[in-house]
Amino acid sequence: MPLKIGLLGIGKIARDQHIPALKASADFELVACASRNARVEGVANFTDLETMLAQMPELECVSICTPPQAHFAAALTALRAGKHVMLEKPPAATTRQIALLADEAAQHGRTLFQSWHSRFAASVDAAREWVGTRTLTGGRIVWKEDVHQWHPGQQWIWEPGGFGVFDPGINALSVLTEVLSNEVCVETAVLAFPENQQAPIAAEVHMRTEEGVTVEAEFDFRQKGEQSWDIELYTTTGRLKLSQGGATLEIDGELIAADEGLAGEYPRLYSRFASLCSAGRSEVDWRPFQLVADAFLIGERRIVAPHQV
Ligand code: NAP
Repeated sequence: MPLKIGLLGIGKIARDQHIPALKASADFELVACASRNARVEGVANFTDLETMLAQMPELECVSICTPPQAHFAAALTALRAGKHVMLEKPPAATTRQIALLADEAAQHGRTLFQSWHSRFAASVDAAREWVGTRTLTGGRIVWKEDVHQWHPGQQWIWEPGGFGVFDPGINALSVLTEVLSNEVCVETAVLAFPENQQAPIAAEVHMRTEEGVTVEAEFDFRQKGEQSWDIELYTTTGRLKLSQGGATLEIDGELIAADEGLAGEYPRLYSRFASLCSAGRSEVDWRPFQLVADAFLIGERRIVAPHQV
């Protein structure tokens, strides 16, 4: 029997990815949505989570697609109501909130899937296997996109807890921490804040592994023309490049695999959520979030030109 699931926060990612993935899934039945201003055809609609939970006791799972500032309260409410919870990235507004949600899930015997969709990009597993048998000598992330194209009208991204350019940048860090066998720490960072906004529009982050290998990252929301979601890893025996956010893999300049990008990630994400629910396990890994929090803690701040959303 498919698990009955409700979606919270019907915006861009819910419509582009979650709803199509759920409609095609044999593991889930999308039965309800909760959103203050949006409705979804063919399911029960509510304006808030509490009403959805009260009126749909048959719900087994809740998938949370709101911005990160709203994740903690919603996830806590759903877990306390006895539901399995899947969280979009970034997982919450503060690191402590994630630790508390993990405890809460364990206490209620429910699954918390704190998801990183980019880890489900087509070439990430192959990259991890390739890197795992080699000695790393360096790494470089270039994650540059046009915020107006990918986050049209999203004021929340510029507010405290909205992550700014780290909203996409954390995807790169989720792939990096998945692929590397070594742990990385932030050493220095430079964050560029538009003078009229509360979150960075660009950032340079210098990281180092436990073994002293440098990994540099450049994140920028002001990219026009070609967009870049690339990770290059250098080893003593070759060079790997993941592009298209992890969908495409090149080794030593030779194309090994090319996939459709974001589209394949969400079916795989929901398949993992179903396996976790049936095994009674949670999956929580806040290392990418810690790297972002550390960049905010240690980063030099530069004020740059104002940005209009
Ligand atoms: P969005 O288009 O702004 O949609 C989020 C929806 O959440 C809003 O439409 C809003 O619907 C609801 N909401 C609830 N509380 C809110 C609040 N405090 N502020 C603003 N909206 C609130 O955002 P999105 O692009 O779908 O992103 C949502 C999450 O998915 C983010 O964490 C983002 O990082 C992640 N994500 C986005 C993408 C992407 O390509 N856009 C890709 C992967 C992951 P109501 O007003 O109807 O309640």
